[in-house]
Amino acid sequence: MVLEKIDECGMIEKYLHSQGALLYEEKRFDEAIVFFQKAIELDDQPYSHYHLDLIYKELTEFDKALQEITRAIRMNPSVPEYYYERSVVWQLKGDLNKAARDYKRAVKIDDNYCRIALIRSSATIVNLTFPDLAQQSCPILSCPAYCCHFTGEPLRHGVYIGAGKLYAIRKFLSKKGLQEDGFMKRLPYKGEDHLSRLVPPNYILKEHGNRFVYYPGRRAHFLDRVALKDLPKGRDYQTLMWINEKASPCGFLNEKRCLIHSVGDETGLDSCKRFFCMTGFVFLVLEHLGVVNKTQLQPKTIGELNRIAVESLLILSKTISGSAKPDEMHVSQKERLKRDINTLFSPS
Ligand code: SF4
Ligand code: SF4
Repeated sequence: MVLEKIDECGMIEKYLHSQGALLYEEKRFDEAIVFFQKAIELDDQPYSHYHLDLIYKELTEFDKALQEITRAIRMNPSVPEYYYERSVVWQLKGDLNKAARDYKRAVKIDDNYCRIALIRSSATIVNLTFPDLAQQSCPILSCPAYCCHFTGEPLRHGVYIGAGKLYAIRKFLSKKGLQEDGFMKRLPYKGEDHLSRLVPPNYILKEHGNRFVYYPGRRAHFLDRVALKDLPKGRDYQTLMWINEKASPCGFLNEKRCLIHSVGDETGLDSCKRFFCMTGFVFLVLEHLGVVNKTQLQPKTIGELNRIAVESLLILSKTISGSAKPDEMHVSQKERLKRDINTLFSPS
């Protein structure tokens, strides 16, 4: 692979990183290290150092692990995972003072880190119980649609536009007298190996003898400071690295709603439909169970909902664990769940 330049959309770095992550999952650590190092050579990102730390920790090379995780912290000091992870490595190395110091730093940034193992195991239970839950849109209206904000091109985050939707979007834009290039971008495809591996073939579209991958463009403003204070977490309570002060909104985002959601026969774009943050997903499950409704969610800020979602997750996973058929709860269990969750909505 030629690595002389960063490609316009960061797709080579994404390919190298994702290959490294795959090899890491398969415990092929030596090969994974090579891919992460190549990714870093091309575009030095803290998450690649974090992954290298995880590998060196597995290999019990704790000094190297510390070097990598410290580099990740220097590059992005606001990620609690990194301090938490370093505290684990210090502990393995036998330095309990430094382990305690890093643990306190993680908790200072996000106090949920003092019960992170419980939150993550609860998230696993809820995620496994409702794997296919999907609905038209996220039930939370007070969110500034964080998940429609991206650092780097949306293409890099797997947001592609298929042929049917592209046709419908073009018709919609032309009807409104809007220019296509203000909303969409396209990446030429000339059979590049990394693109063939990353982009599903049905998203490589032929046009006038050439091939392209279409994806939404971004608008030129960023999340404001107030919004940045209430960033939600991922489904396993991980930091969503691509939603930060450098993230800008998808070109199709208009007043917190997706302009093209119902355009054409397909609703939304596949990748957008698949994504839910932890807060969105927890309330989606609770709404599905008939435990909360949109009217309750509406007056709450996203910051409040993030907090209620974590508490609800813990209650929900406990109820599921005590249920014979987790997604078909007994009426009395559902009633108790409803009562407990509703208490979280009452002013304290
Ligand atoms: S296409 Fe719509 S749902 Fe997807 S990121 Fe853009 S605005 Fe959000
Ligand atoms: S899924 Fe999460 S980030 Fe996206 S709109 Fe819903 S609450 Fe906001």
